[in-house]
Formats: sequence, C-alpha cells, structure tokens
Amino acid sequence: MIERNEGFENLAAGYLFPEVAKRRREYQASHPDAKIISLGIGNTTEPLTPHITKALVDYAQKLGTPEGYSGYGDEQGNAELRAKIAQVLYPDMASADEVFISDGAKCDIARIQTLFGRKTKIAVQDPAYPVYVDGSVVVGAAGKSDENGYQGVTYLPCTDENGFFPDLEKIPANSLIYFCSPNNPTGATATREQLKKLVDFANKNGCIIIFDAAYYAFIRDEKLPRTIFEIPEARKCAIEINSFSKLAGFTGVRLGWSVVPSDLKFADGSSVKNDWNRVMTTLFNGASNIAQAGGMAALDEEGQKETKALVDYYLENAKLMHETLTGKNFQDAGVKVYYTGDSPYLWVKFPGWKSWDIFDKILDECNVVTTPGSGFGPAGESYVRFSSFGHRNDVKEACQRLSKLVLAK
Ligand SMILES: *Cc1c(COP(=O)(O)O)cnc(C)c1O
Repeated sequence: MIERNEGFENLAAGYLFPEVAKRRREYQASHPDAKIISLGIGNTTEPLTPHITKALVDYAQKLGTPEGYSGYGDEQGNAELRAKIAQVLYPDMASADEVFISDGAKCDIARIQTLFGRKTKIAVQDPAYPVYVDGSVVVGAAGKSDENGYQGVTYLPCTDENGFFPDLEKIPANSLIYFCSPNNPTGATATREQLKKLVDFANKNGCIIIFDAAYYAFIRDEKLPRTIFEIPEARKCAIEINSFSKLAGFTGVRLGWSVVPSDLKFADGSSVKNDWNRVMTTLFNGASNIAQAGGMAALDEEGQKETKALVDYYLENAKLMHETLTGKNFQDAGVKVYYTGDSPYLWVKFPGWKSWDIFDKILDECNVVTTPGSGFGPAGESYVRFSSFGHRNDVKEACQRLSKLVLAK
C-alpha cells in the first residue's frame, strides 16, 4: 500500500468555518422562525457589473463561432491582460513578463509552496488567512503541530498592543514570510513605513515575502501603499499574490494574478521567476479565457468605474456597521472596534470574552452570524470579525438588532 503524505496527517482539522456553519445550523433547527443574517462570510454578494458581464458574455458567444473559437492559451496568461495589469496596477514597478495570470489567489498561494519545498522556514501573521499555514503543512514545511501551533512556523502576533504590525525580530533568517495587507481578518493595512521596514528586514535576512494584496481595492487612504512594489527594494525580496475576487466580485468566476520580479533570486543565484514560470506552465494550464476577457474589461476605464462603485457598496456597509458597533451599548461594555475604512472587515475586541462565547451570544440574541477571531489564530482570541459582504437591507437589519444587544455581564 502507498504511504499517506505525512503532511496530510499533520494537517489540523479545518475547524473554523465548518464549526460556524454547524452552530448556525443547530441554532436554526431549534429556532425555526429565526431569520438569521450572516455578517460572517468572506464571500462577495453583489452581482457582477454590466460592462464586465457583457465582456464575459461576448467572449463566451465568440467561442461558439468558428472564427472566434480558441483552445489553450498561454499558460502564463493572455499577453494583453498581463500587459494591462502591469500598466494599470504596477506602472514603473513591474513589467508584463513578471505578471502571471491564474485561477485565483488561494490557488497561487498553494502552488507557490512547490517553489520552496519542505526545508523552508515559514513565518505568518497571527491571526491569518488559514491557507498560508495549511499550504505549508501539506508540503511538509510546517512540521507537526502541538499546543503552540506548528513547529516549523513562526507565529507573529498582531494585536492592538502592537498596532497589528508584528515584531519582525522574531523571524528567523531565510524564512518565507506570509504577509496580508489589508489584512484578513484584522483589516489592518500596513503603512509605507511599515512595509519599508518589512522589506528591509527581508532583504537583510535572506527572507522572501509572499504579499497577499487581495483587498487592495478597498484601500481609500491615498497615503497607504496598494502594492508592496511601491517599496522599490521589494523587487529583490517579494512576490505579490492578487485577485479579481474581491475587486470585481469574481469569487465564482475565478481569476487572479501573481507578480514575481526578475530581480528575485534563490540562494544559488537562480531566478525565482524562471521556476515560477515552470510551475505555471507545467502544473497549471492557464486561467479560463472567458474569465480573462472579464479581467480585461474590469481594468479598462468603464470597468474601473464599476469596480470602484462595487467596492464602495461594501465600504458603505462597513461604515453602517462601524456606527452600530461603536454605539453606546458597545462602548459601555468596553468593546473596541478596529477599522480604518480601507478593508471589508471590522475587527472587534470584546474584553473579558472568549471569541466563541461572544459569537454564540450574538447568534442567540441577534440572530447574526459573525466569525470568531480565535479561529484565525491564538492572537485572535477575544476578537470577532464582522464582514461587510452582504446585501444592504440585511446589513441594516443586522445593525438594528446589534444596537439592542445587552452586553453588560
Ligand atoms: C478572499 C481572499 C483571497 C482571494 O482568493 P481567490 O482564490 O482569488 O478567490 C486571497 N487572500 C485572502 C486573504 C482572501 O481573503
């Protein structure tokens, strides 16, 4: 018999979202009349916009004609789309040949592990999006887990005490550093000074940063960097992973991209980009051509207007939630809301509460589903994540109910 991949044995049970779903189901079963509203999801809810929808439809139509049909395209992505991304999002920062189109950011984060292998040390923000660690566990780079987490992973607590920016000195030399900004779940967005510190640390200590910028489109403060390549030295130490999912509502359409600069090298001087090109051509066969046509439309003038309005819709939801969560009943209970207006997530601390206890209380008394912060890592304990992905009426109704929540113990 074939031995099971040890990485899968080491993988801790995917606990967070199944557990949230289970508690919701059980509550509904015992309260059949409850109208439960979810502020817990990291999934988009609003329809694709007209100009982008038209581009998807037109391309699909074209594929149904002899003249318009095409089969496999370039595995690295349609050349026009690579050039468009470089031109619109990375002017003077990256070139078209450094942009690789994919079926999404999560898939790229998983695939990227094949570049580094099992001997690589891993550092992650705590709390963090689960795939950084789980992807490392599967390839054997994270080792086994004990009560402190995975042995091969350096956890970097990001809490209100350090302004949600980690102590970089904890990171061992030659680590692969996963960094997400705007962050899921904390919503924290790194400043230029912070990113510069991170980049300088990485360059000095032989580290490579995997920078997840999936929420860049939510950044409204013009002083905040939208890509790590706004720090020029990042070209020697960083890979950016990005996505149309939260930008254009492509969570189901599936389209993402990565930027791997030519200046990025392994210890032996060889090019990371060349190996990534190899991964994308050998293990991946290119993103859907229909999705790529939608991506092109999302980046032209009309598309940019539409995606901005789409993201603004969620930011307006977030604003309504912010008003509610900073209301008197929350303030009197010492609740702290961390939100700067540059992310779809509000990260809310309930001092004296365990995340799952406050989750249950809000589900029970408001019929609102949230996401317990502790599910994203130990430093998330006492926090709850509120997501602004939802229809406006649901968000308003949820806010109404939350404004009546009695918190004093
Ligand atoms: C939603 C999300 C992504 C996007 O993943 P896709 O596979 O492109 O849909 C990536 N990173 C984070 C942190 C996310 O929350």
